[in-house]
Amino acid sequence: MSAATQPQEGESLVARTLRTGFPWLRFPDELEREFVAEYRQSRRRLVRIGVCIALATIGGLALLDRMLIGVNAHGVPDVIRFGVHLPLVVIAIVLTSRRLYRWYWPFVHSFAPLYGLATVVLAVNAEGALTTFIYARLVIAIFFFYFMLGLSFRAALRTNVVTLAGFVIAAVFGKVSPQFAVYLSFLLLCANFYAGVGCYALEHANRVSFLDRRLLHEVATHDGLTGLLNRAAFESEIHRIWQQAIRDRDVVTVVMIDIDHFKAYNDRYGHQAGDRCLRDVAHAIRRAAGSRPRDCVARYGGEEMVAILPGADRRGGEQAARAILAEVAALAIPHERSMTRPQVTVSIGVASMQPVRGSSHDLLVRIADRALYLAKEQGRDRHAVLDEDDLGEATGVLAARELRTAG
Ligand code: GH3
Ligand code: MG
Ligand code: MG
Repeated sequence: MSAATQPQEGESLVARTLRTGFPWLRFPDELEREFVAEYRQSRRRLVRIGVCIALATIGGLALLDRMLIGVNAHGVPDVIRFGVHLPLVVIAIVLTSRRLYRWYWPFVHSFAPLYGLATVVLAVNAEGALTTFIYARLVIAIFFFYFMLGLSFRAALRTNVVTLAGFVIAAVFGKVSPQFAVYLSFLLLCANFYAGVGCYALEHANRVSFLDRRLLHEVATHDGLTGLLNRAAFESEIHRIWQQAIRDRDVVTVVMIDIDHFKAYNDRYGHQAGDRCLRDVAHAIRRAAGSRPRDCVARYGGEEMVAILPGADRRGGEQAARAILAEVAALAIPHERSMTRPQVTVSIGVASMQPVRGSSHDLLVRIADRALYLAKEQGRDRHAVLDEDDLGEATGVLAARELRTAG
Protein backbone atom coordinates (compact mmCIF):
# COMPACT_ATOMS: atom_id res chain seq x y z
CA MET A 1 0.00 0.00 0.00
CA SER A 2 1.54 3.35 -1.04
CA ALA A 3 1.59 6.32 1.35
CA ALA A 4 -1.23 7.97 -0.63
CA THR A 5 -3.55 4.99 -0.21
CA GLN A 6 -2.78 4.50 3.52
CA PRO A 7 -5.88 5.31 5.59
CA GLN A 8 -5.40 8.57 7.50
CA GLU A 9 -6.52 8.84 11.11
CA GLY A 10 -10.26 9.37 11.43
CA GLU A 11 -10.71 9.36 7.65
CA SER A 12 -13.88 7.71 6.39
CA LEU A 13 -13.95 5.21 3.53
CA VAL A 14 -15.71 7.77 1.33
CA ALA A 15 -13.13 10.50 2.03
CA ARG A 16 -10.26 8.04 1.45
CA THR A 17 -11.72 6.84 -1.85
CA LEU A 18 -12.12 10.43 -3.02
CA ARG A 19 -8.53 11.24 -2.00
CA THR A 20 -6.86 8.16 -3.49
CA GLY A 21 -9.02 8.06 -6.65
CA PHE A 22 -10.35 5.04 -8.54
CA PRO A 23 -8.74 4.85 -12.00
CA TRP A 24 -10.22 1.36 -12.62
CA LEU A 25 -13.74 2.60 -11.91
CA ARG A 26 -14.15 0.43 -8.87
CA PHE A 27 -14.75 1.35 -5.21
CA PRO A 28 -14.03 -0.82 -2.17
CA ASP A 29 -16.66 -3.59 -2.04
CA GLU A 30 -19.14 -2.06 0.43
CA LEU A 31 -19.14 1.31 -1.33
CA GLU A 32 -19.29 -0.34 -4.75
CA ARG A 33 -22.46 -2.21 -3.78
CA GLU A 34 -24.11 1.01 -2.61
CA PHE A 35 -23.04 2.93 -5.70
CA VAL A 36 -24.29 0.24 -8.09
CA ALA A 37 -27.64 -0.01 -6.28
CA GLU A 38 -28.14 3.77 -6.30
CA TYR A 39 -26.94 4.16 -9.89
CA ARG A 40 -29.23 1.44 -11.22
CA GLN A 41 -32.24 2.79 -9.38
CA SER A 42 -31.68 6.33 -10.63
CA ARG A 43 -31.24 5.17 -14.26
CA ARG A 44 -34.49 3.23 -14.76
CA ARG A 45 -36.30 5.84 -16.87
CA LEU A 46 -33.27 6.63 -19.01
CA VAL A 47 -32.63 2.94 -19.66
CA ARG A 48 -36.29 2.47 -20.60
CA ILE A 49 -36.03 5.36 -23.05
CA GLY A 50 -32.81 3.82 -24.41
CA VAL A 51 -34.39 0.45 -25.20
CA CYS A 52 -37.49 2.14 -26.67
CA ILE A 53 -35.17 4.06 -29.02
CA ALA A 54 -33.56 0.71 -29.93
CA LEU A 55 -37.01 -0.63 -30.82
CA ALA A 56 -37.70 2.40 -33.04
CA THR A 57 -34.26 1.97 -34.66
CA ILE A 58 -34.92 -1.69 -35.48
CA GLY A 59 -38.26 -0.76 -37.08
CA GLY A 60 -36.80 2.22 -38.94
CA LEU A 61 -33.85 0.25 -40.33
CA ALA A 62 -36.09 -2.66 -41.41
CA LEU A 63 -38.19 -0.18 -43.43
CA LEU A 64 -35.19 1.61 -44.93
CA ASP A 65 -33.54 -1.70 -45.86
CA ARG A 66 -36.62 -2.67 -47.84
CA MET A 67 -37.50 0.69 -49.35
CA LEU A 68 -34.12 2.26 -50.11
CA ILE A 69 -31.29 -0.25 -50.08
CA GLY A 70 -33.18 -3.18 -51.53
CA VAL A 71 -31.75 -5.75 -49.22
CA ASN A 72 -33.14 -9.21 -49.59
CA ALA A 73 -36.22 -9.10 -47.37
CA HIS A 74 -36.02 -12.78 -46.58
CA GLY A 75 -33.23 -14.93 -45.24
CA VAL A 76 -30.71 -14.30 -42.48
CA PRO A 77 -31.16 -10.50 -41.95
CA ASP A 78 -34.87 -10.88 -41.21
CA VAL A 79 -34.29 -13.89 -38.96
CA ILE A 80 -31.85 -11.77 -36.91
CA ARG A 81 -34.00 -8.65 -37.02
CA PHE A 82 -37.27 -10.24 -36.04
CA GLY A 83 -36.04 -13.44 -34.38
CA VAL A 84 -33.27 -12.02 -32.14
CA HIS A 85 -33.08 -8.20 -31.99
CA LEU A 86 -36.81 -7.55 -31.70
CA PRO A 87 -37.57 -10.14 -28.95
CA LEU A 88 -34.50 -9.07 -26.95
CA VAL A 89 -35.49 -5.41 -27.05
CA VAL A 90 -39.14 -6.16 -26.24
CA ILE A 91 -38.08 -8.25 -23.22
CA ALA A 92 -35.75 -5.41 -22.15
CA ILE A 93 -38.65 -2.91 -22.36
CA VAL A 94 -40.84 -5.19 -20.22
CA LEU A 95 -38.05 -5.64 -17.67
CA THR A 96 -37.56 -1.89 -17.29
CA SER A 97 -41.05 -1.61 -15.80
CA ARG A 98 -40.95 -0.67 -12.12
CA ARG A 99 -42.04 -4.10 -10.87
CA LEU A 100 -39.62 -6.22 -12.94
CA TYR A 101 -36.68 -3.84 -13.01
CA ARG A 102 -34.42 -5.95 -10.77
CA TRP A 103 -34.43 -8.67 -13.51
CA TYR A 104 -33.28 -6.21 -16.16
CA TRP A 105 -29.69 -6.21 -14.89
CA PRO A 106 -28.90 -9.95 -15.05
CA PHE A 107 -30.72 -9.97 -18.42
CA VAL A 108 -28.86 -7.04 -20.00
CA HIS A 109 -25.45 -8.53 -19.24
CA SER A 110 -26.17 -11.53 -21.49
CA PHE A 111 -28.57 -9.66 -23.80
CA ALA A 112 -26.00 -7.05 -24.88
CA PRO A 113 -23.23 -9.40 -26.17
CA LEU A 114 -25.87 -11.56 -27.87
CA TYR A 115 -27.34 -8.44 -29.52
CA GLY A 116 -23.85 -7.40 -30.71
CA LEU A 117 -23.05 -10.82 -32.20
CA ALA A 118 -26.47 -10.92 -33.89
CA THR A 119 -25.70 -7.52 -35.47
CA VAL A 120 -22.44 -8.95 -36.86
CA VAL A 121 -24.30 -11.95 -38.32
CA LEU A 122 -26.91 -9.61 -39.82
CA ALA A 123 -24.25 -7.39 -41.38
CA VAL A 124 -22.07 -10.13 -42.89
CA ASN A 125 -25.13 -11.88 -44.37
CA ALA A 126 -26.72 -8.81 -45.97
CA GLU A 127 -26.91 -8.92 -49.75
CA GLY A 128 -27.81 -6.30 -52.29
CA ALA A 129 -26.76 -2.83 -53.24
CA LEU A 130 -25.17 -0.50 -50.70
CA THR A 131 -24.71 -3.18 -48.03
CA THR A 132 -21.94 -0.96 -46.64
CA PHE A 133 -24.75 0.92 -44.91
CA ILE A 134 -25.69 -2.28 -43.10
CA TYR A 135 -22.15 -2.39 -41.67
CA ALA A 136 -22.59 1.15 -40.37
CA ARG A 137 -25.00 -0.23 -37.79
CA LEU A 138 -22.05 -1.97 -36.12
CA VAL A 139 -20.84 1.54 -35.30
CA ILE A 140 -24.30 2.50 -33.99
CA ALA A 141 -24.25 -0.66 -31.83
CA ILE A 142 -20.98 0.48 -30.23
CA PHE A 143 -22.56 3.76 -29.07
CA PHE A 144 -25.75 1.92 -28.07
CA PHE A 145 -23.80 -0.38 -25.71
CA TYR A 146 -21.71 2.42 -24.21
CA PHE A 147 -24.53 4.89 -23.60
CA MET A 148 -28.06 3.57 -23.95
CA LEU A 149 -28.43 0.42 -21.85
CA GLY A 150 -27.17 1.74 -18.49
CA LEU A 151 -24.20 -0.64 -18.66
CA SER A 152 -21.09 0.23 -16.67
CA PHE A 153 -18.01 1.14 -18.72
CA ARG A 154 -16.51 -2.29 -18.01
CA ALA A 155 -19.66 -4.19 -19.08
CA ALA A 156 -20.05 -2.04 -22.22
CA LEU A 157 -16.38 -2.53 -23.11
CA ARG A 158 -16.75 -6.29 -22.63
CA THR A 159 -19.80 -6.30 -24.92
CA ASN A 160 -18.01 -4.33 -27.61
CA VAL A 161 -14.93 -6.55 -27.45
CA VAL A 162 -17.19 -9.60 -27.94
CA THR A 163 -18.88 -7.87 -30.92
CA LEU A 164 -15.56 -6.88 -32.50
CA ALA A 165 -14.19 -10.39 -31.94
CA GLY A 166 -17.33 -11.76 -33.66
CA PHE A 167 -16.65 -9.55 -36.66
CA VAL A 168 -12.97 -10.57 -36.83
CA ILE A 169 -13.93 -14.28 -36.66
CA ALA A 170 -16.50 -13.76 -39.47
CA ALA A 171 -13.76 -12.10 -41.55
CA VAL A 172 -11.30 -14.95 -40.85
CA PHE A 173 -13.95 -17.40 -42.10
CA GLY A 174 -14.13 -15.46 -45.36
CA LYS A 175 -17.52 -13.77 -44.83
CA VAL A 176 -15.96 -10.38 -45.63
CA SER A 177 -13.25 -9.43 -48.13
CA PRO A 178 -9.82 -8.94 -46.43
CA GLN A 179 -9.49 -5.24 -47.42
CA PHE A 180 -12.99 -4.52 -46.20
CA ALA A 181 -12.40 -6.45 -42.95
CA VAL A 182 -9.17 -4.56 -42.15
CA TYR A 183 -10.69 -1.17 -42.95
CA LEU A 184 -13.87 -1.78 -40.99
CA SER A 185 -12.01 -3.28 -38.01
CA PHE A 186 -9.96 -0.10 -37.84
CA LEU A 187 -13.11 2.05 -38.01
CA LEU A 188 -14.75 -0.04 -35.28
CA LEU A 189 -11.66 0.29 -33.10
CA CYS A 190 -11.70 4.08 -33.53
CA ALA A 191 -15.44 4.26 -32.73
CA ASN A 192 -14.79 2.12 -29.65
CA PHE A 193 -12.04 4.44 -28.57
CA TYR A 194 -14.11 7.64 -28.96
CA ALA A 195 -17.26 6.25 -27.34
CA GLY A 196 -15.26 4.34 -24.69
CA VAL A 197 -13.43 7.48 -23.55
CA GLY A 198 -16.76 9.31 -23.30
CA CYS A 199 -18.35 6.45 -21.36
CA TYR A 200 -15.37 6.23 -18.99
CA ALA A 201 -15.48 10.00 -18.34
CA LEU A 202 -19.23 9.87 -17.72
CA GLU A 203 -19.00 7.00 -15.26
CA HIS A 204 -16.05 8.62 -13.51
CA ALA A 205 -18.05 11.85 -13.09
CA ASN A 206 -21.05 9.85 -11.79
CA ARG A 207 -18.83 8.14 -9.24
CA VAL A 208 -17.24 11.40 -8.08
CA SER A 209 -20.70 12.93 -7.70
CA PHE A 210 -21.82 9.89 -5.65
CA LEU A 211 -18.80 10.25 -3.33
CA ASP A 212 -19.33 14.02 -3.03
CA ARG A 213 -22.95 13.51 -1.99
CA ARG A 214 -21.91 10.84 0.51
CA LEU A 215 -19.19 13.06 1.94
CA LEU A 216 -21.59 15.97 2.28
CA HIS A 217 -23.99 13.71 4.16
CA GLU A 218 -21.17 12.47 6.41
CA VAL A 219 -20.06 16.01 7.23
CA ALA A 220 -23.66 17.01 8.00
CA THR A 221 -24.29 14.05 10.32
CA HIS A 222 -20.90 13.48 12.01
CA ASP A 223 -18.89 15.36 14.58
CA GLY A 224 -15.64 16.58 13.06
CA LEU A 225 -13.47 15.99 16.13
CA THR A 226 -14.54 12.51 17.24
CA GLY A 227 -16.02 11.08 14.04
CA LEU A 228 -19.11 10.03 16.02
CA LEU A 229 -22.64 10.98 14.95
CA ASN A 230 -23.46 14.57 15.89
CA ARG A 231 -26.34 15.70 18.08
CA ALA A 232 -28.76 16.32 15.22
CA ALA A 233 -28.08 12.87 13.75
CA PHE A 234 -28.48 11.34 17.22
CA GLU A 235 -31.94 12.90 17.55
CA SER A 236 -33.11 11.53 14.22
CA GLU A 237 -31.53 8.09 14.89
CA ILE A 238 -33.13 7.69 18.30
CA HIS A 239 -36.49 8.80 16.91
CA ARG A 240 -36.20 6.17 14.14
CA ILE A 241 -35.03 3.44 16.56
CA TRP A 242 -37.82 4.32 19.01
CA GLN A 243 -40.54 4.05 16.35
CA GLN A 244 -39.07 0.74 15.14
CA ALA A 245 -38.97 -0.60 18.72
CA ILE A 246 -42.66 0.30 19.17
CA ARG A 247 -43.50 -1.71 16.04
CA ASP A 248 -41.26 -4.65 17.08
CA ARG A 249 -42.24 -4.45 20.80
CA ASP A 250 -38.51 -4.34 21.49
CA VAL A 251 -36.56 -2.81 24.35
CA VAL A 252 -34.17 0.17 23.87
CA THR A 253 -31.18 0.98 26.07
CA VAL A 254 -29.38 4.30 26.20
CA VAL A 255 -25.88 4.63 27.66
CA MET A 256 -24.70 8.17 28.56
CA ILE A 257 -20.97 8.69 29.05
CA ASP A 258 -19.20 11.74 30.49
CA ILE A 259 -15.45 12.25 30.93
CA ASP A 260 -14.56 12.90 34.58
CA HIS A 261 -12.82 16.14 35.59
CA PHE A 262 -12.33 17.11 31.96
CA LYS A 263 -12.16 20.82 32.68
CA ALA A 264 -9.21 20.13 34.98
CA TYR A 265 -7.62 18.01 32.20
CA ASN A 266 -7.87 20.94 29.76
CA ASP A 267 -6.46 23.30 32.38
CA ARG A 268 -3.48 21.03 33.08
CA TYR A 269 -2.62 19.69 29.61
CA GLY A 270 -4.07 22.32 27.27
CA HIS A 271 -7.04 22.36 24.92
CA GLN A 272 -5.30 20.48 22.09
CA ALA A 273 -4.39 17.60 24.39
CA GLY A 274 -8.01 17.78 25.58
CA ASP A 275 -9.15 17.33 21.98
CA ARG A 276 -6.87 14.31 21.52
CA CYS A 277 -8.13 12.81 24.76
CA LEU A 278 -11.74 13.35 23.71
CA ARG A 279 -11.07 11.66 20.35
CA ASP A 280 -9.33 8.68 21.97
CA VAL A 281 -12.13 8.20 24.49
CA ALA A 282 -14.73 8.45 21.69
CA HIS A 283 -12.91 5.73 19.71
CA ALA A 284 -12.68 3.57 22.84
CA ILE A 285 -16.44 3.95 23.34
CA ARG A 286 -17.09 2.98 19.74
CA ARG A 287 -14.88 -0.09 20.09
CA ALA A 288 -16.73 -1.13 23.24
CA ALA A 289 -20.33 -0.25 22.38
CA GLY A 290 -20.75 0.30 18.66
CA SER A 291 -19.93 -3.16 17.36
CA ARG A 292 -23.45 -4.46 16.60
CA PRO A 293 -24.73 -3.12 13.28
CA ARG A 294 -27.82 -1.49 14.82
CA ASP A 295 -25.95 0.26 17.67
CA CYS A 296 -25.04 3.88 17.25
CA VAL A 297 -22.71 6.13 19.19
CA ALA A 298 -22.97 9.93 19.12
CA ARG A 299 -21.37 12.99 20.67
CA TYR A 300 -24.18 14.37 22.78
CA GLY A 301 -22.40 17.64 23.54
CA GLY A 302 -19.06 18.79 25.00
CA GLU A 303 -17.35 15.79 26.62
CA GLU A 304 -20.55 13.84 26.88
CA MET A 305 -21.26 10.92 24.55
CA VAL A 306 -24.19 8.60 24.14
CA ALA A 307 -24.77 5.10 22.78
CA ILE A 308 -28.17 3.77 21.67
CA LEU A 309 -28.44 -0.01 21.88
CA PRO A 310 -31.67 -1.19 20.22
CA GLY A 311 -32.77 -4.62 21.44
CA ALA A 312 -30.38 -4.56 24.43
CA ASP A 313 -31.95 -4.78 27.90
CA ARG A 314 -30.66 -3.49 31.22
CA ARG A 315 -28.09 -6.31 31.39
CA GLY A 316 -26.89 -5.61 27.86
CA GLY A 317 -26.53 -1.94 28.77
CA GLU A 318 -24.51 -2.80 31.87
CA GLN A 319 -22.25 -5.08 29.83
CA ALA A 320 -21.64 -2.22 27.38
CA ALA A 321 -20.92 0.15 30.29
CA ARG A 322 -18.37 -2.25 31.79
CA ALA A 323 -16.73 -2.70 28.37
CA ILE A 324 -16.49 1.08 27.98
CA LEU A 325 -14.93 1.49 31.45
CA ALA A 326 -12.39 -1.22 30.61
CA GLU A 327 -11.51 0.29 27.19
CA VAL A 328 -11.06 3.77 28.68
CA ALA A 329 -8.92 2.34 31.51
CA ALA A 330 -6.81 0.52 28.89
CA LEU A 331 -6.06 3.87 27.22
CA ALA A 332 -4.24 4.82 30.45
CA ILE A 333 -4.22 8.56 29.64
CA PRO A 334 -2.44 10.33 32.53
CA HIS A 335 -4.59 12.88 34.42
CA GLU A 336 -2.65 14.40 37.37
CA ARG A 337 -5.50 16.69 38.39
CA SER A 338 -8.20 14.03 38.56
CA MET A 339 -9.59 13.56 42.04
CA THR A 340 -10.72 10.05 41.09
CA ARG A 341 -7.55 8.40 39.72
CA PRO A 342 -4.29 9.59 38.14
CA GLN A 343 -5.78 8.59 34.76
CA VAL A 344 -8.66 9.76 32.57
CA THR A 345 -11.88 8.02 33.62
CA VAL A 346 -15.53 8.23 32.61
CA SER A 347 -18.85 8.00 34.42
CA ILE A 348 -21.73 6.20 32.77
CA GLY A 349 -25.51 6.25 33.10
CA VAL A 350 -27.54 3.34 31.72
CA ALA A 351 -31.32 3.35 31.17
CA SER A 352 -33.61 0.79 29.52
CA MET A 353 -37.21 1.13 28.42
CA GLN A 354 -39.81 -0.76 26.46
CA PRO A 355 -41.32 1.92 24.21
CA VAL A 356 -45.10 2.04 23.93
CA ARG A 357 -47.30 3.85 21.43
CA GLY A 358 -47.57 7.53 22.27
CA SER A 359 -44.39 7.52 24.42
CA SER A 360 -41.33 9.60 23.62
CA HIS A 361 -37.63 8.76 23.69
CA ASP A 362 -36.98 12.00 25.60
CA LEU A 363 -37.91 10.27 28.84
CA LEU A 364 -35.39 7.46 28.27
CA VAL A 365 -32.61 9.98 27.56
CA ARG A 366 -33.58 11.95 30.70
CA ILE A 367 -33.44 8.77 32.83
CA ALA A 368 -30.01 7.87 31.38
CA ASP A 369 -28.83 11.39 32.17
CA ARG A 370 -30.05 11.01 35.75
CA ALA A 371 -28.27 7.67 36.02
CA LEU A 372 -25.11 9.44 34.87
CA TYR A 373 -25.43 12.00 37.65
CA LEU A 374 -25.97 9.12 40.06
CA ALA A 375 -22.67 7.55 38.89
CA LYS A 376 -20.95 10.93 39.39
CA GLU A 377 -22.40 11.25 42.86
CA GLN A 378 -21.36 7.73 43.78
CA GLY A 379 -17.70 8.58 43.09
CA ARG A 380 -17.18 8.61 39.24
CA ASP A 381 -15.25 5.98 37.17
CA ARG A 382 -18.30 3.70 37.37
CA HIS A 383 -21.73 3.15 35.92
CA ALA A 384 -25.21 3.46 37.42
CA VAL A 385 -28.41 1.98 36.03
CA LEU A 386 -31.98 3.22 36.13
CA ASP A 387 -35.02 1.99 34.26
CA GLU A 388 -38.74 2.65 34.21
CA ASP A 389 -39.19 0.95 37.59
CA ASP A 390 -36.62 3.32 39.10
CA LEU A 391 -38.35 6.34 37.65
CA GLY A 392 -39.61 7.49 41.05
CA GLU A 393 -36.16 7.05 42.53
CA ALA A 394 -34.62 8.88 39.61
CA THR A 395 -37.04 11.73 40.08
CA GLY A 396 -36.06 11.74 43.73
CA VAL A 397 -32.36 11.96 42.85
CA LEU A 398 -33.06 14.81 40.50
CA ALA A 399 -35.28 16.56 42.96
CA ALA A 400 -32.55 16.26 45.61
CA ARG A 401 -29.96 17.67 43.18
CA GLU A 402 -32.22 20.49 42.18
CA LEU A 403 -32.92 21.30 45.81
CA ARG A 404 -29.19 21.32 46.56
CA THR A 405 -28.48 23.46 43.50
CA ALA A 406 -31.26 25.81 44.48
CA GLY A 407 -29.94 25.93 48.03
P1 GH3 B 1 -17.26 16.19 35.82
O1 GH3 B 1 -16.35 15.16 36.33
O2 GH3 B 1 -18.29 16.57 36.82
O3 GH3 B 1 -17.89 15.81 34.55
O4 GH3 B 1 -16.37 17.49 35.60
P2 GH3 B 1 -15.93 18.12 34.22
O5 GH3 B 1 -14.79 19.06 34.47
O6 GH3 B 1 -15.63 17.02 33.26
O7 GH3 B 1 -17.24 18.85 33.71
P3 GH3 B 1 -17.51 20.33 33.31
O8 GH3 B 1 -18.89 20.34 32.73
O9 GH3 B 1 -17.23 21.25 34.45
O10 GH3 B 1 -16.45 20.67 32.18
C1 GH3 B 1 -16.51 20.13 30.93
C2 GH3 B 1 -15.33 20.62 30.16
O11 GH3 B 1 -15.24 19.98 28.90
C3 GH3 B 1 -15.37 22.09 29.92
C4 GH3 B 1 -15.01 22.25 28.46
O12 GH3 B 1 -13.93 23.15 28.30
C5 GH3 B 1 -14.54 20.86 28.06
N1 GH3 B 1 -14.86 20.62 26.66
C6 GH3 B 1 -16.09 20.50 26.09
N2 GH3 B 1 -15.95 20.26 24.75
C7 GH3 B 1 -14.61 20.21 24.49
C8 GH3 B 1 -13.85 20.02 23.31
O13 GH3 B 1 -14.37 19.82 22.20
N3 GH3 B 1 -12.50 20.02 23.42
C9 GH3 B 1 -11.88 20.23 24.63
N4 GH3 B 1 -10.55 20.20 24.66
N5 GH3 B 1 -12.58 20.45 25.75
C10 GH3 B 1 -13.93 20.44 25.70
MG1 MG C 1 -17.26 15.76 32.61
MG1 MG D 1 -20.28 17.09 30.97
